[in-house]
Amino acid sequence: MTDCVFCKIAEGQIPASTVYEDEDCVAFMDIGQVNPGHVLVAAKRHAQDLYALDDAQAAAVARGVARVARAIRAAFAPEGLSVYQANGAAAGQTVFHYHVHLVPRFANDGMRFTWPVQNPPREVLEEHAARIRAALGL
Ligand code: AMP
Ligand code: ZN
Repeated sequence: MTDCVFCKIAEGQIPASTVYEDEDCVAFMDIGQVNPGHVLVAAKRHAQDLYALDDAQAAAVARGVARVARAIRAAFAPEGLSVYQANGAAAGQTVFHYHVHLVPRFANDGMRFTWPVQNPPREVLEEHAARIRAALGL
């Protein structure tokens, strides 16, 4: 889908700070960092949401999520990790291409995410990405 921002990232048509990639999914820094180390794992093939995934695609994305989650833990040593996704505009979804949020959590960040989130410059996103890639051995 050519007008989809995450398809464009998966195809390398727009820049992203990528941390992990395999045949089925790509993981990159969210441009809005709820907390430092906030990563999105997206299916490579366009699927609007969870409901659109077949079993193999769902399993493959879950594997990517688990791998990146371990690397975030190693790189940022958070006290917790929130893993979430949304389906539909009423659930707060804004990009309609299946993806999972991995958000490191720290003791003082509260129960709710604070908005607006930070939009760090590309160098900071790249720095975060490099730490996660190093933890993945990439
Ligand atoms: P949601 O659909 O609610 O899960 O949110 C989409 C997420 O994608 C938001 O957290 C945005 O900050 C993030 N996002 C949007 N455009 C980009 C982009 N070009 N690169 C990285 N993350 C993005
Ligand atoms: Zn797409």
